[in-house]
Order: sequence, then C-alpha cells, then structure tokens
Amino acid sequence: MIWEHSSFLLKECLDQIVHNNLPTTSIILCFVDEVWSTLLRSVHSIFNRSPAHLIKEVILVDDFSTKEYLKENLDKYMSQFPKVHVIHLQERHGLIRARLVGATIATGDVLTFLDSHVECNVGWLEPLLERIHLKRTKVACPVIEIISDKDMSYVGVSSFLRGIFTWPMTFGWKVIPDEIIKKYNIKEMDPIRCPIMAGGLFSIDKKYFYELGTYDAGLEVWGGENMELSFKIWMCGGEIEIIPCSRVGHIFRDGNPYTFPKNRIKTVERNLARVAEVWLDEYVDVFYGHGYHHLLNTNNIEFNIGDLSKQKELRKKLQCKSFKWYLENVYPDLQTPSVRSDGLLFNVGTRKCLAVENGTFSFELCDIHKKNQHFNHSWLRLIKQTDMCIALLDMKQGLGMKPCDNKNNNLRWLHQSFIADSTLTDHILWEISQFPLCLEGNLFGKILTLNTCDPVNSQQKWQFTNYYKD
Ligand code: UDP
Ligand code: MN
Repeated sequence: MIWEHSSFLLKECLDQIVHNNLPTTSIILCFVDEVWSTLLRSVHSIFNRSPAHLIKEVILVDDFSTKEYLKENLDKYMSQFPKVHVIHLQERHGLIRARLVGATIATGDVLTFLDSHVECNVGWLEPLLERIHLKRTKVACPVIEIISDKDMSYVGVSSFLRGIFTWPMTFGWKVIPDEIIKKYNIKEMDPIRCPIMAGGLFSIDKKYFYELGTYDAGLEVWGGENMELSFKIWMCGGEIEIIPCSRVGHIFRDGNPYTFPKNRIKTVERNLARVAEVWLDEYVDVFYGHGYHHLLNTNNIEFNIGDLSKQKELRKKLQCKSFKWYLENVYPDLQTPSVRSDGLLFNVGTRKCLAVENGTFSFELCDIHKKNQHFNHSWLRLIKQTDMCIALLDMKQGLGMKPCDNKNNNLRWLHQSFIADSTLTDHILWEISQFPLCLEGNLFGKILTLNTCDPVNSQQKWQFTNYYKD
C-alpha cells in the first residue's frame, strides 16, 4: 500500500536526515459527523506512517456529532490503540474551541492539528518536527494533497505554492513564479514561507502556542481562525512554513457536512471582523471597504462581534509588530494601499485646490507642500484631512468638517470606479442621497455646495493627486 503513494514523494526527501532527539507530538483531530471509513483512514495512516516514539497520543475530539456510530462504536474500535483518546463534547464547540479542548489535554511537546478526513503520507511527520526542533517559533505545515471526493484516490499537487489571502481576507494559494524559482534557485524540497496557513493541518510547539494565546476563543464554528493565527504568528515573532517533504492528503468537499448554529455567511464574516479589528490597524478600512460595509452598522442587532479587549491586550503584551510591517516584510506582493486616493483635491472648473483653515473651506493655488490641501479618500469612502472628514452638516449650514466616523454612512462619498454612470466618474457623489447629488466648488459665496449632478459642469469635477485603485 505504501508503494502506491510513495511515487508522490520527492526522491531527495528520502535522503534527508533528521535529528535523533526530535520533540514528541500530540495529534489532534476534531470532527463532527465524520464518515466512519474516512476517520479510520486518517487514524490508521497516522499510526502506519509515523515513528511510534514520536507520537505521544492521538486525541479525537467528537464535536457533538449526531451519528450513533461515532459514540460507543468508535470508543470500542479505538481501544485497540492505547495512544488514542476519544473525547465526546456535550455541546457543539465549533472547530476552534474543539481544537482548544484537544490542546488542553495534550501532553506532547508539539501539537499537530489535522482534519478528520486525511491520509498522512510516508515520512510526513519527521520533517515537520525537525523544523520545530531547529526553531521553536516555526510553525510547520505539510503540503496538502488531494483525496478525490469522487473515488477517494490520492492525487499529488505541486510544491511551489504559497498560502496567501486576498481582500477581504479570503484564503488562497499562489504559485511561485518560474523567474523567482530560477532567481533564488529554489529546490522542490526547500521550505516555503507562507503569509497565511491553510489552517487545518499544522504542527506548532505547544508552549509557543500558549505563549501566543492560542486561538481567539471568541471565534465560532469555522472560518477566519487561520487568518488570526497566521497574523499572530508573523507579527509576534514567528514564522509559517510549508515543508515539501511532508505530504498529507485531504478530502476537499463542496460545502460543510454540518450545520452552522447561526448561518454560515454571518458566522464567517463575524469571525473575520474580529480578526480585522484586532490585527489590521489602519488597514481595517480595506477589509470593510471590500464588501463588508454592512458590518459597521451597529444597529444591525444580528451583528455583534463581541468583546475584543483580551485580544487587543494580548497583542500589546506580546509587543507584536504592525500590520504594515507584515505587509512589507511577509507579503510584499499584495501591494495594498491604505487609501483609495490621496494628495491634493483639485477642482477642474476653478483650477484650484480645496483647502481647510480652522474648519472652513477655501480654494487656494495648488501647493503640494501645504498640509491643509491634503486629503485622503479612504476605503470606506470618507474624505479625510487627518481625523476630520468632509460632511454635510445639515441642509441649512451646508458642508463642513466633522470628526471622522467609519460607522457614519453620511460621510461616504463616491468617486471614480464606484460610480455606475461613467459620465460622472470625475464627480464626487454623496452616497446616501436618493437621486445623485454632487460636490461643487465655487470661488464666491459658499465654497462647497451639494447640487444636482451635471456631467458637463466642470466645477463638479475633481481630481486627487494619486489614485491607488483602478
Ligand atoms: N469541525 C468540527 N466542528 C465544527 C466544524 C468543523 O470539529 O463545528 C471539524 C471538521 O470535522 C474537520 C475540521 O474541523 O475535521 C475542519 O473542518 P472542514 O473539513 O469542514 O473544513 P475545510 O477543510 O472544508 O476547510
Ligand atoms: Mn477539511
């Protein structure tokens, strides 16, 4: 049986030597309503393909499954393996908290988390433990290969993949380009540094996991926990690597074979918002600005992301680096600007730039060195000068500057790509008006007014110095 699969292993890996005194590991598998044969395949592959002395125990956490066969039958079957402990949770904990229950009783030096529908390949464990032995703040992930959900066959995948995210914090894989492989002479068996881990399969030093404060236990069911742990690891001094000599197959399924006590979308977006609020600093706008405005509306009672003070405290205590540092050093290819556009706000009709002095507007000759002419158009579409924002004060007073507030929809202005009507792309539209209202610049009388949009009126046309988003 082993030979069937070993063709996927890299020849070079067979010659790799590891230390004799590798740390031991507790292997934790959480499941809810897992298929019997798939669960057994996971457990058997662990025992068949790992050196016995490295496995301290295998902890199976039954997250309140509804299937009868996962109760006494499972206990009975697993009693043939003295190292297996089965825990039956008495209520649904969700993946994140179920893993934490497993971690609490683990006694090995390293925690290895696996999904309950995997097949560990030959020699999968030693290379993971070796990396942690070399440096305890390394978090090691196997290459995740594919077990077909149609015929359960094992399919190898390329090694040159990094785990990444795109906005709004969606996990993905990115191929390492050929030029880079050539330039740095990357070998197929070299560890690959990943901005984000996939989440289901990894080994981490147990003490280090606790130093990092484990997972945010406020995350529900499934989703976002890989972002949370990845940001935390990198920003607080650790590293995430994929180790190509370690390979584990995983069944990728369409949809989840379990219920989300609330609903799937709401659960995942709430989890992501918790992660964003704790870890993204000023880039939190980028997250909300990619289709998550509705989360900011606190009147939405279904949406309550809960208390984050513990998480924020932890970040302070660990003296973690900024998200900007993470972007620049760990994931520079994402190239995320922190605003949509910035610089001077040039009015085409008056050929002058908007300026603010003591809260009142004026038009001045454009001068890039004058701070009072600088504005940002944020991801949440606020037009900001430091922490004050262009706002309609009321219909009588007209426009003025108001303290910025990401939750206030009245402060949002559409400009450029978000405008459906292409004749108005140079205009600045007040987002919440029912019919289009545009910001107009005047040299006399009221400097800024809100008028019916007119595609040819050049006093309604504006240009920022820099645009970062097309
Ligand atoms: N899981 C769990 N409780 C939950 C949700 C998931 O124990 O509330 C388990 C699930 O059985 C699986 C692992 O967590 O072993 C990861 O979930 P899943 O495989 O659905 O995630 P995916 O691989 O699709 O990202
Ligand atoms: Mn899975």
